[in-house]
Amino acid sequence: MSRSEELFARARRWIPGGVNSPVRAFRAVGGTPPFVARGEGARLFDVDGRSYIDYVGSYGPLILGHAHPRVVEAVCQAARLGATFGAPTEGEVALARVLVEAVPSLEEVRLVSSGTEATMSAIRLSRAATGRSGVVKFRGGYHGHVDALLVESGSGASTLGVPSSPGVPAAVVEQTHLLPYNDLAAAQALFDRSGAEIACVIVEPVAGNMGVVPPEPGFLEGLRRLTREHGAVLIFDEVITGFRVAYGGAQARLGVTPDLTCLGKVIGGGMPIGAYGGLRELMEQVAPAGPVYQAGTLAGNPVAVAAGLRTLEILREEDPYPALEEVSARLADGLAEAARDAGICVQVQRVGSLLGLFFTEAPVRDAAGVAAADGAAFRRFFHAMLDAGVYLAPSPWEAWFVSTAHRAAEIDATVEAARRAFRIAAE
Ligand code: PLP
Repeated sequence: MSRSEELFARARRWIPGGVNSPVRAFRAVGGTPPFVARGEGARLFDVDGRSYIDYVGSYGPLILGHAHPRVVEAVCQAARLGATFGAPTEGEVALARVLVEAVPSLEEVRLVSSGTEATMSAIRLSRAATGRSGVVKFRGGYHGHVDALLVESGSGASTLGVPSSPGVPAAVVEQTHLLPYNDLAAAQALFDRSGAEIACVIVEPVAGNMGVVPPEPGFLEGLRRLTREHGAVLIFDEVITGFRVAYGGAQARLGVTPDLTCLGKVIGGGMPIGAYGGLRELMEQVAPAGPVYQAGTLAGNPVAVAAGLRTLEILREEDPYPALEEVSARLADGLAEAARDAGICVQVQRVGSLLGLFFTEAPVRDAAGVAAADGAAFRRFFHAMLDAGVYLAPSPWEAWFVSTAHRAAEIDATVEAARRAFRIAAE
């Protein structure tokens, strides 16, 4: 029995399913997840002494790779001064300023401790500001485990929410409208019908929770127009894309500015953090400036803030985005060619350093497209890559994350491993 198998068996005695977040348990692909001992740059090392080229990057935060020395230094320095005070600190002001200067929609920003808290709070604020209850989300969009957003769509262009988890009362999701991603006509129809009841539209401006699905030209622009016409708040959930697809996020890259933006992941440099912000007139309604209550014991945590500040400082100084683009394109092109050579049909979809791989014949533009892809082929591919020392997220619904620590050598080794893995997937 490997050490990972031993630990997984023990973990299941004391932790539900043996993990602290469901996807880590490998349910979609089967097998035992390697227990991680440490990470360095683009690599992970497990407790059995195996090493992997890592494309999970903790699901997004690690744009600089694992244990970047300057980020580690910032964390240690901050921890020595005390981990948390429940009182304001200078670092929070510095981080707020960096965020506001970088992200076009931000005039004011509130730090929280996770992406879930950011989206939950942005929705509460939108509802308070508009005096309406309706929330629009897109099928395949994940915004954390907020009750009102944990819904799946039925068939049809727009379906009222049905809870996708026990424990979420139907009444909580009654006001959640689901639409297919990239379907502006469906959004238009919903607003024509119910525009006066809609408080907000929340959308991932590049979808990163159904593999990677880029917005089609006009989709985000159309949502911007519709929300403006109907007095609803447009929320971009940039928890994945913020400081990832461009320093100023997808909104800077794509030129569409929402009213509110949710952030997380990269802005904490690997420590727990989230943030939401936007128009001053909205943010001034948040307590204690205004009546909309939202708080957190560890919000603005000094260690997380230090890790985030240092990460963003490096991104600002070094501007790694062109290099990330280049190395990620090399990966995407290499994977596409390897699949062709193996005679298997895949779609490689990429925006910056986010990449999605689908075993399907048509480009994927929404959740239905992901659901139609070949899950069994993905499972075979995943395990062949893991055996070859390439660590991918254990689900075709997750993105691949490339970091600045991934160089040509890692990319070429990955493509080499994929040549064999595609042949196995095709069997
Ligand atoms: N929003 C998006 C787009 C995400 O990808 C995630 C997490 O993966 C969240 C929100 C929730 O963030 P957290 O897991 O930090 O609560």
